[in-house]
Amino acid sequence: MSIALFPGSFDPLTNGHLDIIKRASFMFDRVIVGVGNNHSKKNLFTPEEKCHLISKVVADIPNVEVEIMHGLTVQFMSEVGAKFIVRGLRNSKDFEYERDIAGVNSALADVETVLLLAKPENQNISSSMVKEIGSMGAENMSKFVPKAVVDALKERFN
Ligand code: ADP
Repeated sequence: MSIALFPGSFDPLTNGHLDIIKRASFMFDRVIVGVGNNHSKKNLFTPEEKCHLISKVVADIPNVEVEIMHGLTVQFMSEVGAKFIVRGLRNSKDFEYERDIAGVNSALADVETVLLLAKPENQNISSSMVKEIGSMGAENMSKFVPKAVVDALKERFN
């Protein structure tokens, strides 16, 4: 059985992340969305809140599950039996970053990184942009994030 891990901060989950999850769900038997805690980024939601929110959004995709990640990515992968890492690429900056991390992970363990290109309509979506415009009361957030996330952002910023 092919098991892939899609690790990320997901603070919050965007339409770009969701598209990668859906496409990965067609490629692998199981996809685990791994909610990490990137301490270098300022988080709006706790890992538990993110896990709950993402679970709600992917509830109708049977082979996707959501877990809070801990420790090294490759160690977590060995615990859950995942051999593939899925990540998304929006631009050349993402590419350079992902290439370096993929190199480190393949040196640490027998894992394969699969990079999926962002759809053109998602290329400019990032969690930080969503947080910034959300904090300023932007409407039409559903162009950037799923409905459950729109609601969570409204609640957080009210
Ligand atoms: P991290 O802090 O681990 O980079 P992110 O939540 O920012 O976590 O991103 C997780 C993954 O999703 C990364 O591979 C990133 O490149 C990808 N990603 C982020 N935004 C998009 C998007 N709009 N379209 C496709 N992939 C994306």
